[in-house]
Amino acid sequence: MKFGDLEIFVVSDGRFRLDGGAMFGVVPKVLWQKRLAADDRNRVTLGLNCLLIRSAKHTLVVETGTGDKGDAKWNDIYGIDHSVTLLDSLARRGVAPEDVDIVVNTHLHFDHCGWNTRRDRDGKPVPTFSRARYFVQRGEYEHAREPTERDRVSYRKENLQPLAESGQWVWVEGDQEIAPGIELVRTPGHTRDLQCVRLTSRGRTAFFFADLVPTTAHLSYAWIMGYDLYPLTTLEQKKHWIPEAVDNEWLCFFAHDPETPAAYLRERDGQVVAEPVQEPELVATE
Ligand SMILES: [Zn+2]
Repeated sequence: MKFGDLEIFVVSDGRFRLDGGAMFGVVPKVLWQKRLAADDRNRVTLGLNCLLIRSAKHTLVVETGTGDKGDAKWNDIYGIDHSVTLLDSLARRGVAPEDVDIVVNTHLHFDHCGWNTRRDRDGKPVPTFSRARYFVQRGEYEHAREPTERDRVSYRKENLQPLAESGQWVWVEGDQEIAPGIELVRTPGHTRDLQCVRLTSRGRTAFFFADLVPTTAHLSYAWIMGYDLYPLTTLEQKKHWIPEAVDNEWLCFFAHDPETPAAYLRERDGQVVAEPVQEPELVATE
């Protein structure tokens, strides 16, 4: 869709599944299963919603999904559904990997940076976007190289190391405008150095909530993922950014919502609700 001087599209890397309990933290299953149904292994189906942003000078991708480097066992555990992939979705928009000059990873969990790299003919992981600079918070990168016992399953070296070798990483510290109207905003909680993306053009603002608010079900302040390393910090961040988005009519994007990748937020009877954006070009799997 046209967004001032920018064009923004949701591009999908398909869907995957995570444990429903981990996805909703302390929220009881009797409540969360009304929002997202659990399968026979207690998993909920989630979207892998990425953004393609075009400006006069740049072609950006925000998030790169799970990628396709997992083996059969891993694909089964996470219920990977690649009926559409990020590369397919970009191709449908006429974008080849070498057209992309900026990639943003909000953080480096495997479901946000999988297509950072892909295997070459010899099976070696190499950068997917050969001309791009890849932006991530420096603290997140450092943590990803030495995660704790609690979160090391979320990080995979093959998504990171080839870009260190090719010199394509750009490590950001705190908030930074990386191109006109395209700003990275550090939003700690899920990890210490998670970042969201704020887009502004001609008086309008859009906000990619990353894993601060992964689905519209997580708009309720107490609905915080069990994965979060600093849940009370997540709570503070939500209490800052969600009212901003409501009051200023921001176009909001949700990385893992299976149905509603884009919405405006409205307050109704003291609750924040998502009003899905219906434009056909924003539908993830067309
Ligand atoms: Zn994450």
